[in-house]
Amino acid sequence: MSTHTNVLVIGAGPGGYIAALKAAQLGATATVIEKHHLGGTCLNYGCIPSKALLSSAELFHHAKHAAQWGVKIGSVDIDWPAVQKRKDKVITTLRGGIGSLFKGRKVTSVSGTATITGPGQVRVDDGKGGAQELTADHLIIASGSSPVRIPGWPTDPNLVCTSDEAVHWATLPKELIVVGGGVIGCEFACIMNALGVKVTLVELLPQLLATPGLDQDLGLNLAKIFSKRGMTIHCGVKVASVTADGATVTATLDNGTVLTADRLLVSVGRKPNTAGLGLESLGISLSNRGFIPADDHMATSAKGVWAIGDVNGKCLLAHAASAHGVCAVENALGHGHAFSAPIPSAVYTFPEIGAVGMTEQDAKEKGLPYSVGKFPIGFLGKALTANDTDGFMKVVRHRETNQILGVHMLGHNATEVIAAAGVMIHTKATVQDLAEAVFAHPTIGEAMKEAAEDALGMGLHLPPRKILSVTATV
Ligand code: FAD
Repeated sequence: MSTHTNVLVIGAGPGGYIAALKAAQLGATATVIEKHHLGGTCLNYGCIPSKALLSSAELFHHAKHAAQWGVKIGSVDIDWPAVQKRKDKVITTLRGGIGSLFKGRKVTSVSGTATITGPGQVRVDDGKGGAQELTADHLIIASGSSPVRIPGWPTDPNLVCTSDEAVHWATLPKELIVVGGGVIGCEFACIMNALGVKVTLVELLPQLLATPGLDQDLGLNLAKIFSKRGMTIHCGVKVASVTADGATVTATLDNGTVLTADRLLVSVGRKPNTAGLGLESLGISLSNRGFIPADDHMATSAKGVWAIGDVNGKCLLAHAASAHGVCAVENALGHGHAFSAPIPSAVYTFPEIGAVGMTEQDAKEKGLPYSVGKFPIGFLGKALTANDTDGFMKVVRHRETNQILGVHMLGHNATEVIAAAGVMIHTKATVQDLAEAVFAHPTIGEAMKEAAEDALGMGLHLPPRKILSVTATV
């Protein structure tokens, strides 16, 4: 006997659980199958645990420097088990929240591993020998992704770990090698360095955060801040081998440098969770990078089957997964539209990074007539009062249409500030609109207005522009 539902979702991460809630909101019956915990990677191994740890690390960092604010604290120390306990509490609170939302909208939650057995048919194995068959009008695959491990490197997770283990470390390392200077590597390096761990960061590419969508200036400036805090950074170099001996990990770089530490974090990317899903029963082929191809309605090549979030490879971010989930369900239930909203990127280091739209390098590569406006965060009254003056705001403007091509920020609260830029790009506001908008004073957001003014050559808090380049003139 099989149970039928209108919308059946595989995976209860930020893509899957939002898709199920949306389906229920639109009047459909919805069922979610999850083999692990509600909330997926984001809540259990990603966004939330890492930000809880970051929050403790940043507070510790500021507490050590409290005298700069005129505050006497005395000696401060880290109680790592308490940091972990706080993080776990945040996770369980939010997990419970998803469970309550499911109850409130009568979403059925099924615990077990899903395998697709044919069009609209899924078997769920409960891991204890039991199985049930489910059928559905629409199937949404939201199975997410997992960290990549490097074949041949030691597999003892006490020594060589991925972010899955690192967010739940029972002890802090003394010395840590981080392999991979992308978003996750930089976030962990920042957290660990602030907690007093001796961090060495190794990146294959010539700079940190050489990630699509992030302007080059962001990673270059973050590296300077990290170096000032005592981190050792090797860019443009490959880790040739990693060995482990007792409690020591040794990484040999291909320039001959030998690094040792008591732990190594591999943060070199993520791979989609497609193994064992039964995609062959639907005739779905994977892209050459292993993702499930989906169009801009999130539809796959199989009728009534949708792929959202990390598993479709469009953008490996939680808010992208949720937005895909809404889009897929609306299309499945006949309220459809193509997905077009710009997706902001956020890097949770301190200072933070927020970015949306085209980078300066994208504009240059596409041969667009563009100008760039820039404003140093340290020129802002708010940054000085907050004692957080590192960074800059950059606005990339289409010189002929005045379109906001992109906004990129390194600085205090950048992940919050960038939201306004995303909305402006989505609503097709111009750089002129941005420059004419009134921002409260003193705020960090003022940097965006100032950078927009600079992109138009109208900045008042900057010296008059003297040199105009051929490609980037006002
Ligand atoms: P997932 O969250 O991966 O969820 C997929 C779920 O499907 C999992 O729970 C899995 O158990 C389940 N599943 C898989 N296969 C099956 C099956 N066969 N049967 C049943 N269940 C199955 N993104 C941000 O936007 N902001 C951040 O700050 C951020 N920080 C991050 C920090 C770290 C350390 C990491 C690793 C990631 C971070 N991300 C962040 C990325 C974010 O976590 C992912 O983009 C997001 O979780 C993807 O959501 P999803 O729903 O597609 O998949």
